[in-house]
Amino acid sequence: MADFDRDYFVAVFRRMAATAEENRDEWTRLDGAIGDGDHGINLSIGFRAVVKQLDALPDDTDVAGLFKLVGMTLLRKVGGASGPLYGSFFMKAGAEVPGQAQVSFDELRRMLRAGVTSIQQRGKAELGDKTMLDSLLPGLDVLEAADADDPRAALAAFVERMRQGSDETIPLRARKGRAMRLGDRSIGHRDPGSQSSWQLLNCLLEGDRARS
Ligand code: ADP
Ligand code: MG
Repeated sequence: MADFDRDYFVAVFRRMAATAEENRDEWTRLDGAIGDGDHGINLSIGFRAVVKQLDALPDDTDVAGLFKLVGMTLLRKVGGASGPLYGSFFMKAGAEVPGQAQVSFDELRRMLRAGVTSIQQRGKAELGDKTMLDSLLPGLDVLEAADADDPRAALAAFVERMRQGSDETIPLRARKGRAMRLGDRSIGHRDPGSQSSWQLLNCLLEGDRARS
């Protein structure tokens, strides 16, 4: 079974940065409908700073070090609620695998679970509150139930469930974050973080290493 090494994750983070650029206006438009219209701007600023860090990455950086660097950069650079949430997601994910140059598929699943748990602990949101957790939590359940012998298929199913989870936020009433202030007027709009999270994690399908 394939291992996921530092170079794979560097490629994934570069792809995430490109995704943040490509979807900046769309994420901002979604946030404009039920928030303050800065979600895409926040994340594109954050990932531009990530790319700068990747361009100067020391050779001896391991997987945990890479995730810590990305997480801290997002935490520092991204304004709004999503910065600390995405920042702690990557930091806690990396902290699962200290000192490793590469991780197995099972370790990758553990990393993602740890990251999502930290979003729950920090943001205190639950499933159905109309946040990024509505894509992340059901996606992760699918990932954990998937066949470990085919990481690529498992990651594809994970992302597909996240995409559906984002769709499922549309009829929900926001119970966390800025959109909560709108009450019933938040109904009928997609949660921006549920969209950015599936599109960012879709980048795990990037690169040969995920092809099992
Ligand atoms: P802000 O709301 O501060 O302007 P952003 O616009 O960057 O920050 O991010 C908004 C997104 O953050 C929301 O769409 C939602 O998915 C996510 N979010 C907000 N609060 C929480 C929370 N408590 N738990 C999980 N996700 C949250
Ligand atoms: Mg916002």
